[in-house]
Amino acid sequence: MGGEPLMNFDLIREIVEWLSANPLSVPFICFASTNGTLLDDERMEWFRKYRNILWLGVSYDGSEYLQQINRGAKAGIVNFDYFHDVWPEQGFKLTIAKESLRCLAEVILDSQKKGYKIAASLAQGIDWSDDDAELYLEQLSLLSVAYLADNDLTPINILSRALYEIDNLPEYQHRFCGSGVYMITYDIDGKYYGCHMFSPIVMGEESALEISKIDWMCETIADDDRCKNCLLKSYCPTCMGLNYHFRGEVSKRDFRSCKMILAEAIASCKFQIKVLTTRRNSLIKEDAYYAQAALGAYPLLSELSIRNSISPYVMGKI
Ligand code: SF4
Repeated sequence: MGGEPLMNFDLIREIVEWLSANPLSVPFICFASTNGTLLDDERMEWFRKYRNILWLGVSYDGSEYLQQINRGAKAGIVNFDYFHDVWPEQGFKLTIAKESLRCLAEVILDSQKKGYKIAASLAQGIDWSDDDAELYLEQLSLLSVAYLADNDLTPINILSRALYEIDNLPEYQHRFCGSGVYMITYDIDGKYYGCHMFSPIVMGEESALEISKIDWMCETIADDDRCKNCLLKSYCPTCMGLNYHFRGEVSKRDFRSCKMILAEAIASCKFQIKVLTTRRNSLIKEDAYYAQAALGAYPLLSELSIRNSISPYVMGKI
C-alpha cells in the first residue's frame, strides 16, 4: 500500500493487545510489511511477546546502497537477524531494481547462506532495457550454478516457478493471485474489495464506483487480449491491482517487463531441466512435475533471445 506501518505503532499495539485479550472464534494473524527501521529495544521485546498474533515481513534489498535507494533507509540500522529469529518462516521481501541487477546473485546467495528466506520480485513500473534483461539472465544463471552445486541452498522463487502450458497454450490467461476469490479486503466501513490494492486508501475515492463493478468471479478477468498468442501467457506473472492503478484495467499488463519475464523463463527452464538430470536419485515428486513442464517448454524457449525476440512471443514470429 505504501507507507510505513510502524509509524503508527501505538495503534498496532492497541489492536494486538485487544485481540490477545479478546480472542476471535476464527483463526487469525495480523501482518505488516516494514522497512525495519523503527524498532527499538522496547518494541522488539513487545513484538517478540506477540509473535504468534502479529507477524512482520521486512523488506531486504541487500547492500547498504540498495537499501538506501529502494527503501530510503540504510541496511545497517536494521537488525535482520532479529526478524529471522522471531519469524523464521517469514521470507524477506527483496525487490529487484535496475540498480541491484549487477550484484543480484551475490546479494541473494549471501542472504540465503545466513539462513534468511528470500522472496524476490521485479520492481514494477520500470522501463527495463534489453541490457537489463541480459544482465538479469546472467545473474539468474549464476544463481542456478550455485544451487546445483549446493543442495542445502533453496532455489529462489523466481527459478522455481513452473513453466506452465508453454507448449500447450490455454484459451485465456489465468489469474495469478487469489484476489477477489480466495482473498478479500474489508475496509473499515464494511465494504469489500478484491484485495487491499483496490481499497480507496490506495486507488482514491473517485475510483470506488468503477471498482465496485469488477466481476471478481469472472474466469477471464486476468486475460489480456494483447497476450493472446504469447508463449509466456500462463507463466507471466501479473498484479491486477497494479494493472488497474497504472493502466486502468485489471487485465492490462505492463509490456515493459516482457523481456525480464523472458529472462526468467529461459533461466528457469534450463535450471529445472538440470535439476532433473543432475539429481536423478534425489528427485521429489514436484521436481519431476516441474521438469516435465520445462522439457515441454525447452524447444520453444530455445528459439527465443533477449535481444532479437519481440513480445508477444509468438511462434513463427520469433
Ligand atoms: S511476456 Fe509480455 S506479451 Fe507475453 S504474456 Fe507477459 S505481458 Fe503478455
